[in-house]
Amino acid sequence: MSDTLRIIPLGGLGEVGKNMTVYELGETVIVVDTGLAFPRDEHLGVDLVLPDFAYLYDRPVRAVILTHGHEDHVGALPYVLRDVSVDEVIATRLTLGLVKSKLDEHGLTAATRLVEADPDAPPLELGPFRVELVRMAHSIPDAVAIVLETPAGRVVHTGDWKLDHTPVDGLKTDVGKLAEIGNRGVDLLLGDSTNAERPGMTGSERLVGDAFEQIIPLRRGRVLVASFASNIHRMQQAATVAAHTGRKVAVVGRSMRRNLGIARNLGYLDVPEHVVVKPQDAMELPPQQALIICTGSQGEPMSALTRIAYDDHPSVSVAPGDTVIISAKPVPGNELRVHDAINNLSKRGAEVLHEEIAPVHVSGHACQEELRTLLSLLRPRSVMPIHGEFRMLAAHARLARDAGVPEERIVLAENGSVVELSLARGPRLVGRIESGVTFVDGLGVGDVEDVALRDRRHLAEDGVLIVVTTIALSDGGEIAPPELIARGFVDDPELLEELRQEAGRVAVGLAADGVTEIKLLQEHVHDAIGQVVYDRTRRRPMILPVVIEV
Ligand SMILES: [Zn+2]
Ligand SMILES: [Zn+2]
Repeated sequence: MSDTLRIIPLGGLGEVGKNMTVYELGETVIVVDTGLAFPRDEHLGVDLVLPDFAYLYDRPVRAVILTHGHEDHVGALPYVLRDVSVDEVIATRLTLGLVKSKLDEHGLTAATRLVEADPDAPPLELGPFRVELVRMAHSIPDAVAIVLETPAGRVVHTGDWKLDHTPVDGLKTDVGKLAEIGNRGVDLLLGDSTNAERPGMTGSERLVGDAFEQIIPLRRGRVLVASFASNIHRMQQAATVAAHTGRKVAVVGRSMRRNLGIARNLGYLDVPEHVVVKPQDAMELPPQQALIICTGSQGEPMSALTRIAYDDHPSVSVAPGDTVIISAKPVPGNELRVHDAINNLSKRGAEVLHEEIAPVHVSGHACQEELRTLLSLLRPRSVMPIHGEFRMLAAHARLARDAGVPEERIVLAENGSVVELSLARGPRLVGRIESGVTFVDGLGVGDVEDVALRDRRHLAEDGVLIVVTTIALSDGGEIAPPELIARGFVDDPELLEELRQEAGRVAVGLAADGVTEIKLLQEHVHDAIGQVVYDRTRRRPMILPVVIEV
């Protein structure tokens, strides 16, 4: 049997997102987490970003083990299962529930063996791996760290965690078990580095509930709480305060409604049936009787909160006297969008509370004092920081050094690094495999070249239509008649004139409603023009809506 463990991070290093780590011992392969990342603005036309897991195409995977149900840890699972042979997927109950509905959507449930695991159950034997779970507190229930016992040493992979002495569900990070594993001896720790630059301790999830208790009863208008769709603890705390204060709760946003259903069915969320109403019904109630929980805390272009901010949501709107609580922190890169949403909500008369001015958000990740505590509980012989940008990994490495881990036993790896661990030599960086990203858009999965290829094919077959809309912001959103540029597309002056008028109609309509956000304008113009073109010609040219502000 091999006495060398190969560890290959495919994602999550040098970034926050798409966490995925391969553990390989002889012929046996285990994968911890299969996460995704969200595209940035420069990834035009891309819906999701996945790790490049081509390394696994010809290596059957004994088990995928998931640490918790956040998208940056489970989001790529359907795509992995489609292309990689996986014996079973192992996770705790809530994580499995969330994953199951995702696999259902992709029609993959029947083909996949899902195994529920429990931190209190005896260890699992997976070939030469002995796997134990340790309960960790995080911003979603049922998160675990993973302990891998192998002939090459004992490895602890933390997943996302914080200490949280007063978690919402009462289930704390299992410090006793961590200490016990530390006593057995830990050869390598792979630890969450997200907050390694931040001194002190991360606040308890319960602080957010306390803030809700302070804020919500004093409000006379509607209250909207925006958060991540998977933040079950936030939903619980908002719903609990709503029930205390005689407000009904409506949940807006598809992913959030789905997660609410799953968490309630599995008993992770306690919201009485009579408290929940449909969004339309919540809007009919007197304002002081309604609380709306919604997605869009990152200012994502088509999310519920952004559409509400631009008064573009079919069922929910805000009015003077309403309060919007943004219970999340913008992920780096999303700050400007969130600021836009806050400004527009304020323009509509709502008071907006966010983490800079009220204690309505806490992080889900351990800060420096907690990371030091973990290092002293586990006393690892070697440390490999994971889950973070390089500055965070480097800060985590410094904490490990301060805790007495020798310099040569600290591994700063990258996505695609191959790390070998053996009892005799400790961990060593021995090479690299190809790593990178895989893009997913509405049409399929592929690398950057594939997306470019698809665009070219698209252009060759159906041509391109560029719609230029000029909007005078200084003139309160005055719209000039749009211009149309067509290439490789039917040369029909009548149709082009019709499209020009349609684009003008859409833009003027939106401006009249006060919608001046470029992304929304582009989205609406794109969809309207695409529909008319398809109705008239049965073709789908590439449509590029360009909005110019003057
Ligand atoms: Zn997480
Ligand atoms: Zn994470």
